[in-house]
Amino acid sequence: MGQPYSGRFAPSPTGPLHQGSLVAALASWLDARAHGGQWLVRIEDVDTPRCVPGMDAVVLKQLADCGLLPDAAPLVQSQRSPVYQAALDQLVAAGLAYPCACSRKDIEQALAAAGQPHHRNAELVYPGTCRHGLHGRPARAWRLDVAQCAALDGGGAVTWHDRRLGTQTQDVAIDVGDFVLRRADGLWAYQLAVVVDDAAQRISHVVRGEDLADNTPRQILLQRALGVPTPVYLHTPMVLGDNGEKLSKQNGARAFDHARPVAALKAAAARLNLPTAQLREDDPAKLALSGWLAAWRALYNPARE
Ligand code: GLU
Repeated sequence: MGQPYSGRFAPSPTGPLHQGSLVAALASWLDARAHGGQWLVRIEDVDTPRCVPGMDAVVLKQLADCGLLPDAAPLVQSQRSPVYQAALDQLVAAGLAYPCACSRKDIEQALAAAGQPHHRNAELVYPGTCRHGLHGRPARAWRLDVAQCAALDGGGAVTWHDRRLGTQTQDVAIDVGDFVLRRADGLWAYQLAVVVDDAAQRISHVVRGEDLADNTPRQILLQRALGVPTPVYLHTPMVLGDNGEKLSKQNGARAFDHARPVAALKAAAARLNLPTAQLREDDPAKLALSGWLAAWRALYNPARE
């Protein structure tokens, strides 16, 4: 017997859930129910300047209106700083994380000097300036030594399996570089908090939006570095807005219509290729359970994992 199934939905309370976030919420809930497992909610409020006070309650109410009720009280990341610090200490003690003194400008200059000028909108791949010491400069952030972490597992790219997208590969050292664990402003980075909390909540299956798939190799490296299990991953399709761009809080996506939860759930289900036409149920929780569990099982096939 493997680990018991635990799934989660992990909203950042930076705005209300939109139709795209509802797809991820419904998918993670259905997958937990299809496995007879538990479904947890985690409030990801580490990036405090971007969070809106009271938005966690709004999001939980939106979920409840759709009949998506967590099986335990939500975990709140802003209350967990000591746990993240302990994880960082563990990585530093193992020689897998190091302090960094570089500002964004320093990184841009180092990349330009190395003949890799930064292009607008491209993510900066950290050139490793502080990997072997600060040379008297004050520490600002903390970074993961990606090459050292990759070496724990033979080195090179991370290959992982997604239940929908299939086999994926990324060489984190080349594509991302030594990424930040604790930011220069003292805030914990999403990557560290998500890995520590997926382990703390014993999450066996992560079901979330496809926009996060690119983060998964970083998280797998961190899991290996911290000696915690890697969950099974499924990344769900994005919802596009009228302008053809994926819905996101950053581009101002509207909250889904929580006064009409059945319609919102049906639209989310349709995006997951679940049948919606003949369902007459008007209680949202019953609708999801009666109408979609069998279809979910057939499509995403829990029996085969
Ligand atoms: N908090 C992240 C978000 O709202 C989701 C993180 C995750 O599911 O791993 O986009």
